[in-house]
Amino acid sequence: MIEFVSAFLISYILIGLGVTIGYHRLLSHRSFSCPKIVEYFWVMLGYLSFEGSPIWWATMHRAHHRHVDTPLDPHSPKYGVWNAHVGWFIHKGYPSHIDPQVQAKDLINDPLYAFLEQGGSWARAHFVSYIIGWSVRLLICLVFGWKAALASILAGYAVLQIPLMLNVVCHIPKLGYKNYARNDDSVNVWWVALLAMGEGWHNNHHAYPGSAKMGMKPWEFDLSWLTILLMKKLRLAHAINVVSPKPLAPLWQMKFERPRQAKIEPVDC
Ligand SMILES: [Zn+2]
Ligand SMILES: [Zn+2]
Repeated sequence: MIEFVSAFLISYILIGLGVTIGYHRLLSHRSFSCPKIVEYFWVMLGYLSFEGSPIWWATMHRAHHRHVDTPLDPHSPKYGVWNAHVGWFIHKGYPSHIDPQVQAKDLINDPLYAFLEQGGSWARAHFVSYIIGWSVRLLICLVFGWKAALASILAGYAVLQIPLMLNVVCHIPKLGYKNYARNDDSVNVWWVALLAMGEGWHNNHHAYPGSAKMGMKPWEFDLSWLTILLMKKLRLAHAINVVSPKPLAPLWQMKFERPRQAKIEPVDC
């Protein structure tokens, strides 16, 4: 049992970091740079959570930032909780105002991502992700045994719940708090941040989408950021975009502050 739980936790953290570092902070926002092989490492780990093509994910996410909490946002709970949770994810194709050829120009020519995108066919792209995802688990089964494979597959599906849940919970104002006044509903939710390797500091993220660091206050634990720092120490990450907000006032004196410009603008957001 301990073996199984350990395998699940390790798989959950690795695949989760694949999504938060690979899909999100790297591909969607280009908040730091790293060698291509390191980029592929994180992205392919994230791919094991059955979240579809990296190009599709990044394109939809950039559209979310561009149109946040407006009718053009692909998944704002303001316009329906079901759509924000699962509806947008199973929508078979890009909405008419979202075009990866325009909004993911920096990704579409990458041969690996282009293959996983399957020419923009939602169904084929997800089919390929299932084939690859289950084949990797078969390999894990052959090398490490069925417990490790089962733990990995369950961890993959658990990680899939992160963005589906976060899109709803972190855009309902009464469920969290704001560090920065913004014209959207994004909030920081501590328990989502724990489950989602730091991504639950969502109000911080919408204030500074180009920052590789999302936990802005000392107690806002951000595992993805700590991992990026470790990569920097190992010389695996550079050109890291970090916003350093001015020191925050004690809680009882805290006032909302207007977001300031990040040092480097995020890609196409
Ligand atoms: Zn958001
Ligand atoms: Zn983002």
